Amino acid sequence: MKIVTKILLSILMVLAVGARLNAQDNNSPVYVTLWFDTEDYLLPQDDDATKRLAEMLTRLGIRATFKIVGEKGRVLESRGRRDVIAALKRHDIGYHSDTHSQQPTVAVYLQHAGWEDGRAEFYRREVQGVRDLTRIFGVTPVTYGQPGSSWAPQTYPALRDMGIRMYLDEADHVGIDDQPFYYGGMLNVFKMQSNLARMDLSGGASLVNGKALFTKTAERLRSSGGGTISIYYHPNEWVQTEFWDGVNFSRGANPPRAEWKLPGTRPAAETEQAYRDFEQYVQFIKAQPGVRFVTATELKALYADRAITRSFRQEDLVRLARAVQKDITFQKLDGYALSAADVFSLLTDAMAAFVERNAVPAATKVTALDGPARAYAAPIGGTRSSSFRWIAFAQAVRNTADYCRSTHRVPDEIWIGSESMSPADYLATLARAFDDLAASGKPPTEVIRREGRFTSDSHVAQDSPSLWGWVIFPVGFHAPRIMELARLQAWTLKPAVLQR
Ligand SMILES: [Zn+2]
Repeated sequence: MKIVTKILLSILMVLAVGARLNAQDNNSPVYVTLWFDTEDYLLPQDDDATKRLAEMLTRLGIRATFKIVGEKGRVLESRGRRDVIAALKRHDIGYHSDTHSQQPTVAVYLQHAGWEDGRAEFYRREVQGVRDLTRIFGVTPVTYGQPGSSWAPQTYPALRDMGIRMYLDEADHVGIDDQPFYYGGMLNVFKMQSNLARMDLSGGASLVNGKALFTKTAERLRSSGGGTISIYYHPNEWVQTEFWDGVNFSRGANPPRAEWKLPGTRPAAETEQAYRDFEQYVQFIKAQPGVRFVTATELKALYADRAITRSFRQEDLVRLARAVQKDITFQKLDGYALSAADVFSLLTDAMAAFVERNAVPAATKVTALDGPARAYAAPIGGTRSSSFRWIAFAQAVRNTADYCRSTHRVPDEIWIGSESMSPADYLATLARAFDDLAASGKPPTEVIRREGRFTSDSHVAQDSPSLWGWVIFPVGFHAPRIMELARLQAWTLKPAVLQR
């Protein structure tokens, strides 16, 4: 009797906890984005694996994102695999570079490039793949992710030029708290680390461990208000014993096409076990309360940037101006976030409007800007004033507003007569002047030069050979110049805020 009571009590407790969890679920959604880097254009069995996975998911009512290599799309076409193409079309189509691992890969050919030349070079080398996928699948790819860890910031403006406005991949170069963020003018689901949940495909305890990892990840995310879990695979993992590219292009190797080797294939029983485990795994995820599979397109809507459509009044701008006098970094506000570049554009435009019309505008909107293209260098010769006359500073603000409108980026330096300031010092100086203007209704006669503390680049990794650990890179490869540009682009960094 006692035991029965105990059991009944514990059942009631479980039910109560369950009810509480369910109540929380409604407020703390967990989104799962499942993506496949579809890249093996050598092994014909990869075509069948791709088709089988795409069709399995369709049958289960799950839409995934297939990031396809340009050459893979062309190979499917030339092998007459219209069935594979049709199966893929039921899902989101992304882009995963034109030839993936053929040398030189993206970060290698961009390692010494600057901002504009790097942007042009990525576009020149990669646009054909986007054109081919658009022709083959009938849609512009919605997202991109780099081959291996071959990442570079100059790819972002080039991708926007190709009509791609989302970055979906996993590596360590930049990120905020293992959740989606904005960087380079687009949504990034990247550096998700603790919110990456991948089941092994090696049979045995893979499924049990995969479910446990998913449950742990989802519960942690839910208890912190919800968010996104990223899960990725490659269709070739189901059928191969080793990666198609590792066999051919490891450590910078560049064999001619005639010498390319096929990777080894897994025994059929192992492949079948991996399909069975995977089917159970995604069904398990789909059945969790408060959990929903989302594609790249859905993520773009869920994390839409509300800052872009918002109007900022003078009192909003004063708050922003006060914050950037302390730290120049992103600011998370109610339902939206602002990058350092967003605040740069807002304060510059509002002050430029004041200079022109002698009144702060009733509403100012964000102009999307990229970060500076090179690190600031002080001018050679001349003096460094500790303050400027208002009329000289006002002219610099108007000129900066014009620069931002015509180049769509934060300037590398701001000229005040023959002197220049770094963008961070200019923003801190401008913020203080705006604060004074708002308080007194008139601009200061002397504008004191302030030092800005730019800190959003603390979310960008330091360059090191381990950051570039992909086996396809030449031995010893690392890219200090790419990471310097990455830190400059941290002006554009901010968390992506989930829209409810
Ligand atoms: Zn890949």
